[in-house]
Amino acid sequence: MRSVGGTRFQAFRPTLSDFVVKMKRGAQVIYPKDLGPMLLLADIAPGHRVLESGVGSGALSLALLRAGAEVFGYEIRGDFARRARKNVQEFLGPEALSRYHISERDCYDGIDVDGLDRVALDLPEPWRVVPHAAGRLRPGGLIIAYTPSVLQATQLRESLERGPWALAATVEVLQRSWHIAGEAVRPDHRMIAHTGFLTHARRLPT
Ligand code: SAH
Repeated sequence: MRSVGGTRFQAFRPTLSDFVVKMKRGAQVIYPKDLGPMLLLADIAPGHRVLESGVGSGALSLALLRAGAEVFGYEIRGDFARRARKNVQEFLGPEALSRYHISERDCYDGIDVDGLDRVALDLPEPWRVVPHAAGRLRPGGLIIAYTPSVLQATQLRESLERGPWALAATVEVLQRSWHIAGEAVRPDHRMIAHTGFLTHARRLPT
């Protein structure tokens, strides 16, 4: 507790949610509202080998690494890849970097990591990665993609229909905060109307 000019301040160490909304960014980040559900929809666990693309500012990377995964990140922009690495080091420390392998490359050209447990996508045309993901994911493995537009989600679902995938589903997460003060108990007037759609599916054995 500090007192400055008669006002008392209490400082708390930032949580991961605090950090991702305040950290330096190149690309637009995925917000905590969607990061939390993405971890469970993709069933991320310690030791999982996860291909992530694009890496952007590293918000999703941070969540995946925090959950114990080993992350192979494909990002076409070198400046974004460097920013993501710095953000990971700043929040999770150097230990996490040993589980964070970023390559500056185009994910549409293919994936060269074997034995993947999960594929997590946040790029404009995720359906172009679906065939590559099918070739590298272990049977039962999961793919998840974040898409701001529902047209992207439907195109992605069509590509999942064509391949060795099952249990495809798309969800949207709405988060509504409440005003609670004495007798005044009601939803807040404003909420974030839209971020993105989360589409996930499981790799069938062939
Ligand atoms: N999920 C990230 C934000 C990703 S923004 C976060 O939470 O911080 C989308 C990123 O995808 C951008 O950085 C962009 O450079 C990258 N990208 C777009 N197309 C790509 C491709 N074909 N291969 C690899 N990265 C790509």
